[in-house]
Amino acid sequence: MTKNCLICKNKVGIKKLTLKDGYICSSCMKESGWGSWGFTSAVAFSWAKHHTFDDFNKLLKEGGNAKSVIKEATDPSDVQGKSFHDIALEGNIQKAQEKINSLNLPNKIKQQLLNSESFDFFGVKKELLYLPKVVNSDNEKISYLCSGMLDSHTWLIVCTNQRIIFLNKNMIYGMQQQNIPLEAINAITFSQKLLLGSISITNGATVTTIDSINKMAAPIMASKIQNAVRNFKNNNSISSDTDLDDLRKLKSLLDDGIITQEEFKSKKKQILNL
Ligand SMILES: [Zn+2]
Repeated sequence: MTKNCLICKNKVGIKKLTLKDGYICSSCMKESGWGSWGFTSAVAFSWAKHHTFDDFNKLLKEGGNAKSVIKEATDPSDVQGKSFHDIALEGNIQKAQEKINSLNLPNKIKQQLLNSESFDFFGVKKELLYLPKVVNSDNEKISYLCSGMLDSHTWLIVCTNQRIIFLNKNMIYGMQQQNIPLEAINAITFSQKLLLGSISITNGATVTTIDSINKMAAPIMASKIQNAVRNFKNNNSISSDTDLDDLRKLKSLLDDGIITQEEFKSKKKQILNL
């Protein structure tokens, strides 16, 4: 697929409309009645991804534009049987991925962000660019991130396979960071209002509530945290049935004098991953 505009043949940049079989530059988008790139609805971007240049031209000839596409997508009959929510979410992800690709981040982090399909970085670009300083061990992987309100400030919230990280660039204190290790989390609750969602994380006796999370990102973040906590606890559990069986056998070998106390200790450490 050539990276030139299908209409004017000029090279296209980040600001483009991606069709199934090519691209349309931002100025040709505008001329075709699709509005300014930054203001074109995510739904319209998603429509384009599922249609060809021929479809685009057909729509133009029929007097259609981004607005009629949105109307079509909002129709209960849907585009390709997808719900309005799915189409909008897909559009948000696609737009975000173009932004992520343009950010000055190490490839490893960029790839994790793309794989996570995170899309909500509203008001947290500085915090996002600070991530390489925070997530810098080989064992830590980002599974999702979004922005939300905590103590009346906008924070970047990151769920990894080890912890929940909160980052906020403060004018006075500089970059502030808080962490909740996954092992300390007892419960996660999620609630949704008309336009925004909130997530509460219970950590011992402390409840941290993040408000004003993007309505689409909030349920995804809540389930990503739930999965991360479950996976973490499963991977670090010492009491699997097999482990316990092995330990019992080992103890009887010690009791029967077949192995020494030293051998028992080192084998036990091995089984429990200590
Ligand atoms: Zn063009």
